[in-house]
Amino acid sequence: YFNDQSVVFYNGKFIKAKEASSDLYSQSLHYGNGVFEGIRSYKTDNGARIFKSHEHYKRLKFGAEVMNINLNYSEDELTEITYKLLELNNLEDAYIRPLITTGANMSLLTSEETNVIIQCWEWGKYMGDKLLRVKTSKFQRPNPKSCFVEAKVTGHYVNSILSTNEAKSEGYDEALLLDMNGKVAECSGANVFMQKDGKLYTPPRGHIMAGITRATIIEICQEEGIPVEEKFFTLDELKSADACFFTGTAAEVVGLQSLDEYEFPMKWEETHGFELMKLYQAEVLGQRVKENAL
Ligand code: PMP
Repeated sequence: YFNDQSVVFYNGKFIKAKEASSDLYSQSLHYGNGVFEGIRSYKTDNGARIFKSHEHYKRLKFGAEVMNINLNYSEDELTEITYKLLELNNLEDAYIRPLITTGANMSLLTSEETNVIIQCWEWGKYMGDKLLRVKTSKFQRPNPKSCFVEAKVTGHYVNSILSTNEAKSEGYDEALLLDMNGKVAECSGANVFMQKDGKLYTPPRGHIMAGITRATIIEICQEEGIPVEEKFFTLDELKSADACFFTGTAAEVVGLQSLDEYEFPMKWEETHGFELMKLYQAEVLGQRVKENAL
């Protein structure tokens, strides 16, 4: 993720990644009390374009707020810092990882000291381009009454790590997690859509990360006249779907080949997911032609 020349933003300064250090007594390290984001920038004819920077930083600020973590930067300031950071790293196509850690404090009350860190690196499509073979995890998404599921809190990702380890150790590419009620929730780091009889369905908010890619896809569907509905569905319903895909900043749009023993019957190239994968690529570059736009 970094080399000798990599620069990071660390508490108001741009410094070499190799010269940065973190606190052994940090509450983030001990208890997972920190918040982060995952953002992408894309190379365009006009230089780097950070996709939906404000939405990502808004979610970061929401996470910090609910965890009582001090974060005294506005979305605009964070965006400006990020563009500068990309420039200093000579990156245009990049993955950006803002991370707010909490300071030395071994109590269970959020430390007043926080660190604002932004890193960036070159990262291809996180789940690759090939269709995924997915396993339903034995781990569920956390109960929304036990945490803020819509906040990207570092500690929440142990659940994602458990399910990914489980899936990979059994030879699968990724994990699908159900919610506490047994309904389909999402992948360990991406949202899920299924296609059935020409229509798309995705679980509503409540037990899932409110994905910015998910919202973008819903918006594109509405503009392009692709029927889409937010609705809870069961694993059995998903296993009678025609097709399925995941969405996320890192993963972008990626199709599924199978879920457990079930093979999705529709040819990927003929699905809405495939079409949306191409539309999403155009959208992030600011090149989507909105024929139906008012
Ligand atoms: N679900 C989870 C659990 C995630 O970690 C992510 C990545 N932030 C997503 C969904 C997708 O969200 P986004 O489209 O905002 O990247």
